[in-house]
Amino acid sequence: MEWITSLPKIELHAHLNGSIRESTLLELARVLGEKGVIVFADFEDVIRKNDRSLAEVFKLFDLIHMITTDHKTVTRITREVVEDFALENVVYLELRTTPKRNDSIGMSKRSYMEAVIQGLRSISEVDIDFLAASDSNTLHNACDGIRRKKKICVRLLLSIDRRETTESAMETVKLALEMRNAGVVGIDLSGNPLVGEWSTFLPALQFAKDSDLYITLHCGEVPNPKEIQAMLDFKPHRIGHACFLKDEDWEKLKSFRIPVEICLSSNIITKSISSIEIHHFADLYDAKHPLILCTDDFGVFSTSLSNEYSLAVASFGLSKRETFTLAKSAIDATFAEDEVKQQLRLIFDSASPEYV
Ligand code: 5GP
Repeated sequence: MEWITSLPKIELHAHLNGSIRESTLLELARVLGEKGVIVFADFEDVIRKNDRSLAEVFKLFDLIHMITTDHKTVTRITREVVEDFALENVVYLELRTTPKRNDSIGMSKRSYMEAVIQGLRSISEVDIDFLAASDSNTLHNACDGIRRKKKICVRLLLSIDRRETTESAMETVKLALEMRNAGVVGIDLSGNPLVGEWSTFLPALQFAKDSDLYITLHCGEVPNPKEIQAMLDFKPHRIGHACFLKDEDWEKLKSFRIPVEICLSSNIITKSISSIEIHHFADLYDAKHPLILCTDDFGVFSTSLSNEYSLAVASFGLSKRETFTLAKSAIDATFAEDEVKQQLRLIFDSASPEYV
């Protein structure tokens, strides 16, 4: 649906390494194969498989990280991911990634993030505002609704991986605070939901919240009633997925008005939800609960934000006007500054005659 591609869209749940282009992943794997570091054929089989359980997804991430975690590649994939989103009219992107330390190649969590920022700086295909300290005045020009070429605002979330210790999670939060003037706005908790305990991450997340960073949590990806309750009681600013909430959890979520990042393809492909007809999108949408359509990992799940909107339109019968309203409503759930939200409203308003 072409009108969905041209619709301005907001992406709030995208993992950097999950959004790597398949072509880039195969190219990088081929080079490592030629050097004898990996067996390319084994990789190719895993990469090209497009039906995987949640557990298999996390195995794939370990493979992806083997290929992508050096400064140069992190810079490259950041550039490509942002350009890909901008080319399908994503006007505001919150990109999340787990800062990684790898002593053997001199990588610290900080240098990893500097490589990400370098990727944002290197973008030339599209106009970008990412609020790096020295570029902060570009904010006034960014998102101004003038379509010179594709234009995108990017803000960053630092992810804590559930395999991390409290100390390591705290290090990520401190880094986020230090990088606030480089466009870092919040913290995400992600990683294999079968690993780690909520109590391990709570001190770092509480510290982040007390320091006025925004928080989003992967919540209810597997049935874990105690953790789901504890996460909701923490009152994060958003949650992602919410596939295994019980009635009392839905009640709490709705009474707290916590926006939900909905990743349709991801939930269906990983079989977290058995079929799209019974996806909780419908209930939340009917209840006018704040929700945002997102991709999760557009490379791993071979999707795009336009495709996620098309899926919602086809599955839940949204009209053009409803789809536009849904896309615009995401502004309120962003972790952006008020000024950026204001500019985003102008962008949507200038596009609205085509959709209402
Ligand atoms: P990165 O943080 O390395 O840029 O992106 C990949 C990482 O994001 C994965 O290793 C994993 O920690 C996290 N991630 C990506 N997709 C998902 C998902 O669907 N669920 C959870 N819980 N974590 C995810």
